[in-house]
Amino acid sequence: MTRALIVVDVQRDFCEGGSLAVPNAGAIIPVLNRYAERFAVANLPVIATRDWHPAASQHFQQQGGQWPPHCVRDSIGATFHPELRLPPSAVVISKGVGEDDEGYSGFGGTTQRGQSLPEFLREQQVRHVYIGGLATDYCVRATVLDALKAGISATLFIDACRGVNMQPGDVEVAIEAMVRGGADLATIERLAL
Ligand code: ZN
Repeated sequence: MTRALIVVDVQRDFCEGGSLAVPNAGAIIPVLNRYAERFAVANLPVIATRDWHPAASQHFQQQGGQWPPHCVRDSIGATFHPELRLPPSAVVISKGVGEDDEGYSGFGGTTQRGQSLPEFLREQQVRHVYIGGLATDYCVRATVLDALKAGISATLFIDACRGVNMQPGDVEVAIEAMVRGGADLATIERLAL
């Protein structure tokens, strides 16, 4: 059984100073770097998802969506945070690329070669994913729940995710939903690879 790390959307627009900054997002970057290093040393796949929206995305407020513009493809805000350290072998998954594609879940995204994330995981025989990143109550939640739906077990790194909390308590509700769906929770101290 192969395991893989999925780092969700650690992009400049979701970090301090970005157009849709998640509170304290920067605090998780050193922790994610440690996880990425552990997985790379163990020769396990490291996957990094990114929002990669068109400027006319319907997920943006000007087009009737919920969010200020963020992570417009090829913009600075869409780049990974400069402090994020991914191994050279990391696979980048782009999501939310269509105008009507909100792109919350990494499972709806594709590699640069056009392979979907579910296909990539199948090809690598991944049966368990470990997930951290941004934001706990949106893209992390959607990605964890889609993994479980696909029959892949999932661990949420609770020391390496942060949420938006549009409504107070949203992060707790999201974590409860993931646990109810079958995810477990872990921290770097409890990671056995
Ligand atoms: Zn988005």
